[in-house]
Amino acid sequence: MAYLFTRQIVAPLGKVTAAARQVAQGNLEQRVDIHGSGEIAELGESFNMMAATLNRDQQLRQNMVADIAHELRTPLSILQGNIEAMLDDVLETNTDNLTSIHQETLLLARLVEDLRTLSLADSGQLRFQPENTDLRSLSLQVIDEFQTQLAAKNVSLALETPNDLPQAWVDPDRTAQVLHNLLSNAFHFTPEDGNITIQLTSDSNGITVSVIDTGVGIPPEDLPNVFDRFYRVDRSRTRSTGGSGLGLAIVKQLVEAQNGRVWADSTEGKGSTFTFCVPYPA
Ligand code: ADP
Repeated sequence: MAYLFTRQIVAPLGKVTAAARQVAQGNLEQRVDIHGSGEIAELGESFNMMAATLNRDQQLRQNMVADIAHELRTPLSILQGNIEAMLDDVLETNTDNLTSIHQETLLLARLVEDLRTLSLADSGQLRFQPENTDLRSLSLQVIDEFQTQLAAKNVSLALETPNDLPQAWVDPDRTAQVLHNLLSNAFHFTPEDGNITIQLTSDSNGITVSVIDTGVGIPPEDLPNVFDRFYRVDRSRTRSTGGSGLGLAIVKQLVEAQNGRVWADSTEGKGSTFTFCVPYPA
């Protein structure tokens, strides 16, 4: 009995305790080797899962910090270079040059604001105030913000919606931000004379909103990653559009936090469709 007790319980528990100490000291690669069935084996499995999650989270955090540093470096070095050149009288201190410095500060401010939104969403601190919302008038309101830019690029924007579209149960401000981000991408990645369509439909699951463009499209190998933080299909090109690389990550967080779903379809060279669906009032 004593032998069995030691072999089946005490020894495995000792292994878990030793591994837990290792994890506490920061060795997140540590795993326990306990086989068999029963509660002790289950404990070993749970421990390994916990260590794997901690390890993955730490990796994500480290990557995130590296990405943020990378994203900050470009605008900061442009700012520094330009200001130093002005101080050395190599660059004239005129409106044009000050405007380009101002553009970089706007880019930095947007990056910081987007990071703040994401980190609040991550920690569950982003407040949502859902209410009965008419997505037709919300879309018109967001479209309005783009009218001048659309006209300048001669891109047409149509809203297709049935007259009897039911109301959705969403936070109107957060949903306007989702639409804004999707429309902003559709606008930036659609060349002159292109078309954008916002399509609203409803079925038994809820209301579906599609933002369809006739833009550059996304290669199939990049499509699964576009909702990742800082993922850009073409880094050099998208920097000139002023994107932070966080727009779609924010869209995903905001939609999923409201019990919705978002996905993308695209054909390279033809265009993209970003779709999200949101629920009805309970
Ligand atoms: P960004 O701030 O760079 O636009 P996003 O997270 O909004 O970042 O988008 C990530 C990337 O997905 C973009 O850099 C772009 O490569 C691609 N993308 C997003 N929307 C579209 C679109 N409508 N058409 C083509 N590519 C798109």
